[in-house]
Amino acid sequence: MSTPKSYVLIPAAGSGSRMGAELPKQYLPLLGKPMIHHTLSVFCIHPAISRVFVVLSPDDTGWERYDFSGLGDKVEVLRCGGATRAETVLNGLEAIAERAQADDWVLVHDAARPCLTQEMLDNLLVTVADYADGGLLAVPVADTLKREGSDGRVDHTEPRAGLWRAQTPQMFHYKLLRAALRASGTDGPTDEAQAVELLGYAPRLVVGDGHNLKVTYPEDLVIAELLLKNGNDK
Ligand code: C5P
Repeated sequence: MSTPKSYVLIPAAGSGSRMGAELPKQYLPLLGKPMIHHTLSVFCIHPAISRVFVVLSPDDTGWERYDFSGLGDKVEVLRCGGATRAETVLNGLEAIAERAQADDWVLVHDAARPCLTQEMLDNLLVTVADYADGGLLAVPVADTLKREGSDGRVDHTEPRAGLWRAQTPQMFHYKLLRAALRASGTDGPTDEAQAVELLGYAPRLVVGDGHNLKVTYPEDLVIAELLLKNGNDK
């Protein structure tokens, strides 16, 4: 049997409404490039990654406005994004069905996490290679957690022991991830691991890094720029 390949799938069909910007947030400028350029470059440079699929909305008009030629020839655009993140990922997986083998790895990574480093990616690839149930980068919760009651008041404090914040990349065998997303329905899971968990599997938590932030609000852009300037740039 041949060695499994590692593919990356970037769901990039969201509207980014929380940013309040006109363009989908992956195109917002970061150090003179669209955010997604930084996101893609870490995978394009990595020798273990065979191909990087970017799943755009069919009516995306942003991609052609930029020059991605500096990233080499690993990037391939699929214009089959869906109404939810889960639908976008499943559509992307179905689109590559002819090429992907059951045991190939698929790493799903948010377009809006541009500060992933080679070190974090290496850690995930090496650790999860031994786990058939797959795995994901995550960080233990550091803040005290409050459960809201009525009128914006605290009802009680939730124990935080054993709680982690899920990040991406999330890495699964192609066949398992596709089966999990087909079974879970497209508006259920908020990440790929949840879909896999619902099938009864237990993905491995791999210690990530708070620097791998998801750009969600305008103030996150400032932090992402600082991180990229200070060494998270590839
Ligand atoms: O909106 P949020 O930050 O949770 O989106 C996470 C990722 O999922 C983003 O990369 C976004 O483009 C993607 N997404 C998608 N298709 C959707 C909704 C979100 O590809 N319908």
